[in-house]
Amino acid sequence: MTDDPLLRVDGLATGYGDIRAVWDVSLRVHAGEVTVLLGRNGAGKTTTLRAVAGLNKAEAGCITFDGEDITGVRAHRRVGAGIAFVQEGKRVFRRRTVEENLLLGGYSTGKGKHKLRAELGPVYDMFPVLADRRRTVSGQLSGGQQQMLAIGQALMAKPALLMLDEPSGGLAPSVVAEVMATVSTLKASGMGVLLVEQAAAAALEVADQVTVLDVGKVVLDRPRAEVADTNALLDVYFGRA
Ligand code: ATP
Repeated sequence: MTDDPLLRVDGLATGYGDIRAVWDVSLRVHAGEVTVLLGRNGAGKTTTLRAVAGLNKAEAGCITFDGEDITGVRAHRRVGAGIAFVQEGKRVFRRRTVEENLLLGGYSTGKGKHKLRAELGPVYDMFPVLADRRRTVSGQLSGGQQQMLAIGQALMAKPALLMLDEPSGGLAPSVVAEVMATVSTLKASGMGVLLVEQAAAAALEVADQVTVLDVGKVVLDRPRAEVADTNALLDVYFGRA
């Protein structure tokens, strides 16, 4: 880990037309680390990820990636620069095979077919189940496998930063554990991960940094190691019984 974060968001404000959803968000993601972004429904987590991906315009603040100010850079260029975003409930192309979906995931990088095929190997190594089912129509995969496929699609672009919005949504607890194991593997490979997750306890297991939003503002931003009592954190910020 270097001292310079891979991603820096400083004083971000953004929203939807006249509706401001994010007022003042600053956060960091280091290479080889996971920053978990927590908060109640509507706190502005998804909107923050969208702004980093370039899907929402920053009305104030600054986004720096790999040392470069990307605040005004278009979304597709951010993909090329190494930012991948797996949106919540992202659907794969159900009538396409697993392999077709993976190749489609890589097209946004502008690489030719041959180069993309070479990227399949590492993705299959990470998700052997996808290799086994490469010729299967994606609609026949389980929910967990479809989530693996959505992540695999994002990995085809060889990102330095992976943003995951509620990858465990709607999945069984055993599959949630699998998703978190994948996140651990990715961070061990040197990737930076910005993770939004309702399954907060599971997400805290893999977190290096914990950032909590409330009503579009950061209310806590601390290394995971300094969040001694995670139960107390969850109680305070989520009104958990
Ligand atoms: P959740 O856990 O429910 O996804 P979140 O923390 O990701 O919550 P956001 O989805 O970022 O929150 O929403 C932040 C605010 O922006 C909310 O008040 C929401 O109603 C509003 N919002 C989100 N999407 C839109 C949209 N497309 N148009 C208008 N307002 C929106």
